[in-house]
Amino acid sequence: MGCTAQDVIAALRAGAAVVAEHRDELIQLDRAIGDADHGENMDRGFRAVVSKVDTAAPETPGAALKLTATVLISTVGGASGPLYGTAFLRAAAAVGDAEELDGAAVAKALQAGMEGVIGRGRAAVGDKTMVDALSPAVEAAKSAAESGEGAAAVLAAAADAAHQGVQATEPLVARKGRASYLGERSAGHIDPGARSTALLLSAFAEATRS
Ligand code: ADP
Ligand code: MG
Ligand code: MG
Repeated sequence: MGCTAQDVIAALRAGAAVVAEHRDELIQLDRAIGDADHGENMDRGFRAVVSKVDTAAPETPGAALKLTATVLISTVGGASGPLYGTAFLRAAAAVGDAEELDGAAVAKALQAGMEGVIGRGRAAVGDKTMVDALSPAVEAAKSAAESGEGAAAVLAAAADAAHQGVQATEPLVARKGRASYLGERSAGHIDPGARSTALLLSAFAEATRS
């Protein structure tokens, strides 16, 4: 079964819940190599997304993703707000006005989202950013979709790969964002944005499965 607007809305609620639950963890990760606000930024943003979705009741997956983008851009701030906002905006454009998303459409949306992040932030894999979670997620999503998996399984594959990408950020020296100001001292810490990306994908996968 595909992913409807209601499923996307449920996924966004689950995303908001996981971000709230991991708010302090994301703050601690960002305290080590940034300015300790990532948990707060994401929590504020996703709370606003849930409240906007409640009032606006978007009727297609694309409309829900676009609304998410707009709210994140206007409420999150910092580096991650525009980057996540761009990701959701590109994902929205990729799905167009389809009523339901199958596995291939979900994989396409994830890829478009990652391309948006790269286009805006110019980070490559290995720069210790959210791209290190997104890139393996997109590869895993594409191969799951190619083997005929549905939306939930594609998201689950993406989430698993993203969590591995998060662990891989630990030894890296940051080359983009605030953490790059630390140079070599950024090594030995997990990137907060990669962690939030993996947490969101897990929440989206869980919500879509049920
Ligand atoms: P800020 O650094 O402005 O305080 P946040 O703390 O909310 O913003 O987000 C930090 C995260 O943003 C980083 O952990 C990293 O994953 C991501 N990030 C920063 N710069 C870039 C970039 N140029 N490309 C991709 N991701 C980036
Ligand atoms: Mg920060
Ligand atoms: Mg900040």
